[in-house]
Amino acid sequence: MLLAQSCCLSCFTFAILFCGLFVGNHGMTVNTDTNASPFPWDKIRLPETVKPQHYDLLIHPNLTSLTFTGVVQILIEVEQDTRAIILHSKNLQISKAQLLGSRHPQDLQTSEFEAYEQIALFSDGFSFEKGNHVVHLEFSANLSDSFHGFYKGRYTTNSGEVRMLASTQFEATHARAAFPCFDEPAFKANFTIRVRRESRHISISNMPKLRTAELADGLLEDQFDTTVKMSTYLVAFIICDFQSISKTSQHGIEISVYTVPEKISQAEYALNTAVTLLDFYDDYFDIPYPLPKHDLAAIPDFQSGAMENWGLSTYRESGLLFDPEKSSSSDKLGITKVIAHELAHQWFGNLVTMQWWNDLWLNEGFAKFMEYVSVNITHPELQVDDYFLEKCFTAMSVDSLTSSHPISTPVENPAEISEMFDDVSYRKGACILNMLRDFLTPEAFKAGIIHYLKSHSYQNTVNAHLWESLTNVSDLWRLKHDGFCSKFRAKSPASKWFMEDSVDVRAIMDTWTLQEGFPLITVEVKGQEVTLKQERFLREANTSKTTNFLWQVPLTYITSHSSAVQRFLLKSEKDVLYLPEKVDWIKFNVDLRGYYIVHYESRGWDALINQLQQNHSVFSSNDRASLIHDIFQLVSIEKVPLDKALNLSLYLSKESEIMPVTQGFNELVPFYKLMEKRNMEELENQLKNHLVKIFKTLIDRQSWSDDGSVSERMLRNYLLLFACVRRYPSCISTATRLFQQWKESDAQDQGSGLRSVQQALQKIQQNILWMDRNVPLLKAWLDRNSL
Ligand SMILES: [Zn+2]
Repeated sequence: MLLAQSCCLSCFTFAILFCGLFVGNHGMTVNTDTNASPFPWDKIRLPETVKPQHYDLLIHPNLTSLTFTGVVQILIEVEQDTRAIILHSKNLQISKAQLLGSRHPQDLQTSEFEAYEQIALFSDGFSFEKGNHVVHLEFSANLSDSFHGFYKGRYTTNSGEVRMLASTQFEATHARAAFPCFDEPAFKANFTIRVRRESRHISISNMPKLRTAELADGLLEDQFDTTVKMSTYLVAFIICDFQSISKTSQHGIEISVYTVPEKISQAEYALNTAVTLLDFYDDYFDIPYPLPKHDLAAIPDFQSGAMENWGLSTYRESGLLFDPEKSSSSDKLGITKVIAHELAHQWFGNLVTMQWWNDLWLNEGFAKFMEYVSVNITHPELQVDDYFLEKCFTAMSVDSLTSSHPISTPVENPAEISEMFDDVSYRKGACILNMLRDFLTPEAFKAGIIHYLKSHSYQNTVNAHLWESLTNVSDLWRLKHDGFCSKFRAKSPASKWFMEDSVDVRAIMDTWTLQEGFPLITVEVKGQEVTLKQERFLREANTSKTTNFLWQVPLTYITSHSSAVQRFLLKSEKDVLYLPEKVDWIKFNVDLRGYYIVHYESRGWDALINQLQQNHSVFSSNDRASLIHDIFQLVSIEKVPLDKALNLSLYLSKESEIMPVTQGFNELVPFYKLMEKRNMEELENQLKNHLVKIFKTLIDRQSWSDDGSVSERMLRNYLLLFACVRRYPSCISTATRLFQQWKESDAQDQGSGLRSVQQALQKIQQNILWMDRNVPLLKAWLDRNSL
């Protein structure tokens, strides 16, 4: 699933409101059902001895009464005799429960325990013996008012007509609100789905439609092909009046994009992008996409960013539809990334699924990470790499607080599970995978994840499975490729570990996934000796949260004497490495591939600042951005004085790359924002003028056109907005002229990457015009009333 910002907030609120309910019930030995009778199961997780094999599901929504009915027959395997079958059901009225036998059906009693969203099926006359059984359940409910479960949606046509649809969003624990099921990711089964509908609607689901039957009452019933073995949270069905466009991928998969009919002209970019990306993943993972089709549906009422249902991914309209007339370059980047994310899940998450939600990061960290790997190759013009750093910086800002949590955290109830969908699972997950890929090399990493996906297809995994695959494959890979790392052998004794030790990926990665936070590496160079220390980087002074933290940190560095990347695995709190010669400066965390912050003691920072001033291009733009990021982080915990960080920022007057410029803004703008709030006008203006001066050359170079790469366009947008808001004279005069031209032209409705600048300019312009009109009045009043 891809989160939207608003979802994080609502999940958080949900967690606060409801966690008491579950905590209060946890630990009871006997739960009572809705009739105050004893409920035969006292745990929030289902018994492991009853396993669903196949669901035959008929669902019939009524888009007039906004209710639905359903029938499900579940083939279950009972591994150990039991008195009752326990499964999930939430807000469903169960009208019939039967055990289907070889002779005739036997009625079952049902009992519900609402707090755990469970029902029990049992009979006084018998128990369920070891072996296979089929239970038959009939149920009904209202279509949900929320954005999860089986919920109603609506949209308004251009002519003002309101039209209804019904759609599903089951991740994480909402399939149980649409049909009774074993709603945990490890209970994988096959699903055969039928949907009843009126002829004015269509229905789509995970698999292709096999046939449509006409029923006696005039309704139609679509039957879909049986799915592969999958988790309940990936089941999906939509009943709507959408239209679609389709294409076949090179690998023969039928791809379609569905949207409300009036927006079908905006579906083409998503269709082409999905075709390219699905072909890419097929090749990259070396595992064919296992279904015959993939649909992408733009849903008018959708809360999260997107959802990876197998064979039918769902999106917000703004996340999928691209209007060549109106959408901006950043919209294009966003749509490409979200499709890349959901299609990566078809392998990471759908084919191989985490055993339980505590390892959600195995799904989400990987999907986030693969967005960058895939889009970088399939859409190089989008320069998606430019935005990866920002993900890690955001993850670090959350992860440097005492409230952070380990990537892999025990969770049990739905509220806790919802909380796992956060920056730590998604962004930190992606950043530590990026660090691991750099450490193992992209080739060994790729071989390892292919091994992982192939060995666990249609199964569930824990962290250790991934680390085993990566350890095995990287050892093999190194044996096969004799030259691996040999360039380090001659150059640095520090890389000794890498040549002689076997790589224990699990030992390294456990330190990143099982404890929260990340390390601050303090570096001190004396001659050829480099002393390294690690401690937890924490924004708040809280010693109980800084002690006993130790990481295995795959360090990388370059020096003033060698731009070849050197490596050192720091396993202890303190260690020393020796350089082959004395150096002027050393820069760790090359290209910010690692998830840590570096502090350079003694003259370390001064030497780096001096190099930036002399010739900043010896560092990559990622390295420049990471130096800016790290020094200001160190200012915030008072390890480095502010004036030193400001000295470093002076080099930005020569900077032209988007990441260091954006990072410079991100660090410096909050200072004057703070001054604005504290009425420190003189200082505030001084700082603002200083910033305009720093970026003057870059601002003057901007073309006021809409050409160039996405990065260039976004940077231009950013700079011009900044300059005009700061009343930089040449910006204001050009803006005023262009604004007049634009106002007088017929092009106002046409799209442009500079739309946000134009909108801001419009506001500024209105203020200027207002001021111009009112200055004489104000002056006269002041003259008359001067004291
Ligand atoms: Zn996701």
